[in-house]
Amino acid sequence: MDPDGREQEPAGRQDRGSAAETPLGTRAHRVLAELADLRRDDLPTRGGTTTAYVFDSGLGEVDAVALRAYELLAHVNGLDPTQFPSVARIENDLVAIVAGQLGGDDATVGTVTSGGTESCLLAVLGARELWRRRRSTGNPRIVVPATAHAAFFKAAHLFGLKVQTVPVDPDTLRADPEQMAAAIGPRTALVVVSAPSYAYGVVDPVEPIAAAAARWEVPCHVDACIGGWILPFLDDAPPFAFDIPGVTSVAVDLHKYGYVPKGVSVLLHRSAELRRLHWFTLAGWAGYPLVNPTLQSSRPVGPMASAWAVQKLLGIEDRGPGDGLPGFRSLAVSAHGAARRLAAGIDGTDGSPGIDGLHTVGAVDSTLVAFTDDGGPDDPDVRVVVDELAQRGWYLQVQPSMGTAPRARRVPMTAHASITGAAAGRIDELLAALREAADAARVHGRVEPDARLVEMARTIEPAELSEEQVEGLLRLAGVGDGVPAGLPTRMAPVHALVDAIPAPLAERLLTAVLSRQLTPPPP
Ligand SMILES: *Cc1c(COP(=O)(O)O)cnc(C)c1O
Repeated sequence: MDPDGREQEPAGRQDRGSAAETPLGTRAHRVLAELADLRRDDLPTRGGTTTAYVFDSGLGEVDAVALRAYELLAHVNGLDPTQFPSVARIENDLVAIVAGQLGGDDATVGTVTSGGTESCLLAVLGARELWRRRRSTGNPRIVVPATAHAAFFKAAHLFGLKVQTVPVDPDTLRADPEQMAAAIGPRTALVVVSAPSYAYGVVDPVEPIAAAAARWEVPCHVDACIGGWILPFLDDAPPFAFDIPGVTSVAVDLHKYGYVPKGVSVLLHRSAELRRLHWFTLAGWAGYPLVNPTLQSSRPVGPMASAWAVQKLLGIEDRGPGDGLPGFRSLAVSAHGAARRLAAGIDGTDGSPGIDGLHTVGAVDSTLVAFTDDGGPDDPDVRVVVDELAQRGWYLQVQPSMGTAPRARRVPMTAHASITGAAAGRIDELLAALREAADAARVHGRVEPDARLVEMARTIEPAELSEEQVEGLLRLAGVGDGVPAGLPTRMAPVHALVDAIPAPLAERLLTAVLSRQLTPPPP
């Protein structure tokens, strides 16, 4: 034990003097204080009031263990598990733990990646390689439901595939098995389903879609990035992973409901043969022969060490009375119950009056809640509701409107909340804030995108815009040039405009906003 009463960390083969033992001088303290101060305007990452981006179990010990584990492996390079066997052990254990809950068998293998996007990218890359091996060179397609995550569009962009987007069922917002099956053909390299989709939190019908993919001998990837560590623990959840024939890969982000810092996702494959397809290996260059299972080469191990430690700390089942720590099953059941209470409180299906003028969209299959407004002139505008919630300390994400079937009405813009362990005990508080926010939004009135701007946007060719013209448009849209990025406190008008203009122009404008944010201010 050191003087602080902490146990000494075991040293690695040659490591001497852990960082934790080194006393810090005043300059170091000053630097760290400055860094802490930089976080002043950030969204809170703990406490459950930020319902996107960050995931908080609500358990201080989970965070403490995750950070200590991160620190222990912080300097290790995951590039070469033969020289750092701890990395192989951590990866194998994580893969076994996740596969064990997802219907994996002896043949199931996996890769620990830096996050959901990298898992999706690798699933698509492997599928493209398989297609090329079996068919020919050229650019195949991935078939995805309209609700698939942006990462699949990014993968297609990076790896030269086409995305074939299939409309979802306009009522349930789940992928439509018949339309998905009809979209599969000789150029299809991969079929994607979500369990659940990020935007609406509904689980796609995996079984019939995986079966249709199997008939074409096309791999089927289940994107369980956000639900993969919730669904296995719910009694009423549908099967979604390897217990379904035809499913060839599944991804689960442990930096979401595994409750650890960013940088860790597990991509599972039904066989080592399928996994090898996304590996990159090179013996013929000037340096060391390399085998890269992921997109990275030198690779941080801190995030996976955190995930390993928290999995071991909590386990799946509660350890019994007096232990004080829940297992992942009860954490999942509690967050799921809380998400359902939130939805019922909005819709008034719990015997309450509900929130007048708002209703949920999509079933609460896991822990995600999406809601919108009823659309009438006297109803609160969901985008204003989100602004009002922010003023009351709750961050929810605004989502665009979305077309479903070709002639069906669009799903209007929605608000999204991912409910975590930390938020589970605060649903009444959130509902109270939501009721107040809806009242305030009703008083504020609905926002309409500037008709002149929308009209003008239709004629603009984004590729031909100069930087100055883009800046001019942003000012017209109410995005000034302050710092950070001149974003107004009330974002509703900006969201309304972005949703009303053609996507390529919106993308150009959003890029300019981020580019501004990422340009150092003049000295
Ligand atoms: C979060 C998420 C992703 C992408 O993950 P990142 O960790 O943000 O890269 C992909 N799919 C779904 C369903 C997600 O929720």
